[in-house]
Amino acid sequence: MPNYDENCIFCKIIKGEIPSNKVYEDDLCYAFRDINPQAPTHILVVPKTHITSCAEIDDSNAALVGHIFTAIAKIARQEGLTERGFRVISNSGKDAGQTVPHLHFHILAGKDMGEVLV
Ligand code: 5GP
Ligand code: ZN
Repeated sequence: MPNYDENCIFCKIIKGEIPSNKVYEDDLCYAFRDINPQAPTHILVVPKTHITSCAEIDDSNAALVGHIFTAIAKIARQEGLTERGFRVISNSGKDAGQTVPHLHFHILAGKDMGEVLV
């Protein structure tokens, strides 16, 4: 059973209480277009259970995170991103600029992002 946080925006999106532009879904994860895209393609991939950030990944949910990465590869193929490439980012905590405290992976693509990370 998923564990939802009543006040979490992404939990509300997963439950369908807030509309979103779905890209991919399976039993364990959900992917949708970012409301404020920072690249021509900007997709968020989230687990369907509330995990706050990468700082909460441990042995109990590591398989779920692995599953999300297989979903990311599927989405990249589905969206035609594999030839030119794509970037995957997960912000964790204040210094990283995390604004939504529900684990999510940004898939960014469709422009040359260069070699600089920050
Ligand atoms: P963070 O800054 O936590 O790494 O990323 C949060 C992302 O969620 C931001 O890129 C922001 O634009 C996106 N976001 C915030 N609220 C919503 C929403 O209600 N719907 C969608 N589709 N994206 C959202
Ligand atoms: Zn949540």
